[in-house]
Amino acid sequence: MNKEYLISLEQKYGSPLYVYDAEKIISQYKRLENAFSGVNNLKINYATKALSNISILKLIKSLNGNLDCVSIQEVQLGLEAGFTPDQLCFTPSGVSMTELDHAVSLGAKITLDSLSVLEEFGSKYPNIPVSIRINPHIMAGGNKKISVGHVSSKFGISKEHMPDVLEIIKQTGTRIDGVHMHTGSDILDIDVFVRGAEVLFEIARNFNDLDFIDFGGGFKVAYKEEDPSTDIEEFGKIMSDRFNEFCKDYGKDLAIEFEPGKLLVSECGYFLAKVNVVKPNTNTIFAGIDSGLNHLLRPMYYDAYHHIDNISNPLGNEKKYTVVGYICETDTFAKHRPIAEIRQGDVLSFKNAGAYCFSMASNYNSRCRPAEVMVYKNKDYLIRERETFDDLLKHQIEVNLDL
Ligand SMILES: *Cc1c(COP(=O)(O)O)cnc(C)c1O
Repeated sequence: MNKEYLISLEQKYGSPLYVYDAEKIISQYKRLENAFSGVNNLKINYATKALSNISILKLIKSLNGNLDCVSIQEVQLGLEAGFTPDQLCFTPSGVSMTELDHAVSLGAKITLDSLSVLEEFGSKYPNIPVSIRINPHIMAGGNKKISVGHVSSKFGISKEHMPDVLEIIKQTGTRIDGVHMHTGSDILDIDVFVRGAEVLFEIARNFNDLDFIDFGGGFKVAYKEEDPSTDIEEFGKIMSDRFNEFCKDYGKDLAIEFEPGKLLVSECGYFLAKVNVVKPNTNTIFAGIDSGLNHLLRPMYYDAYHHIDNISNPLGNEKKYTVVGYICETDTFAKHRPIAEIRQGDVLSFKNAGAYCFSMASNYNSRCRPAEVMVYKNKDYLIRERETFDDLLKHQIEVNLDL
């Protein structure tokens, strides 16, 4: 998105601000769809947790996507956005039976991720088919916090536990309608996906009446200019062939499902923040912005890189800045990063601010969360108001202790 336009949005809506380019989401969605034009039944279940604004969910709906939901509230958001229950895949980890009951009552499709829950759920709802999340024992992902398919990960039913699964479903009469995996985020290597897929194919042969196989999300997108990203087209070709071959062998045309979060929404987002203070210390020039880890946690939580442009002074001489937040913690966005000269009042634009940015924002330090704007065909739509002080007070109950 061009810098002048971003500046005009900052002027119109204030700072800090999240801006999402709807056209980028659409083109990423179509890219994945085209890459799998060789299969008969592709389902794209957008990972809601990446960016859960209801207008974004509605956009996914217009593209004929489904949702992957990891909490009952995400299922409810999906219904609110107009999805039908069968378009909502509930793939939680470690939730209570009460939450599963709720998902059943709303009609969402359910994926279970432990043996004990499979047993309890199956005894209670023998007529509701479920899918199972498998831990394929594969180490993948860009960071140990986001690798979730390895042998000691909390997610999924170990691939070694298939005899137990079969025993349980024999007792309960549950039909397994799908097998599922999600091995982590930021996976670059197509081979890793394919290795995981082979594990799932093996597992799938245990069940004779599947409807789908879900390979999860985790496609890598570029955060730096020179970063490699998953070659979706190549991946689509290899996986489609392998999947079609499997279906032939299995004797049924299954649906192939994916749950992309980052791939669809990472690059659509820009986070705009204003520079409050420029502070040269002995060996570092700090640029302090009107935001912090409360609005954009990824750099601190994952050591994630977000490219930063000074859109107020794009032609300024580059200097090395350490960009920090205003939270009373160390909240460093970038260390000694070359950026066009920064002056007080300049607006900085952070790239890749679509996925896991607003959705991880908090009220820490009693700060309000930013507004969100969606842009489509050069028109901007406010899709979330900036929070106000009243929002901070909203659920608090004032008690005066009589001391
Ligand atoms: C988070 C998540 C995803 C999406 O991961 P991305 O890296 O954003 O593609 C998909 N499936 C499940 C079950 C998840 O928890």
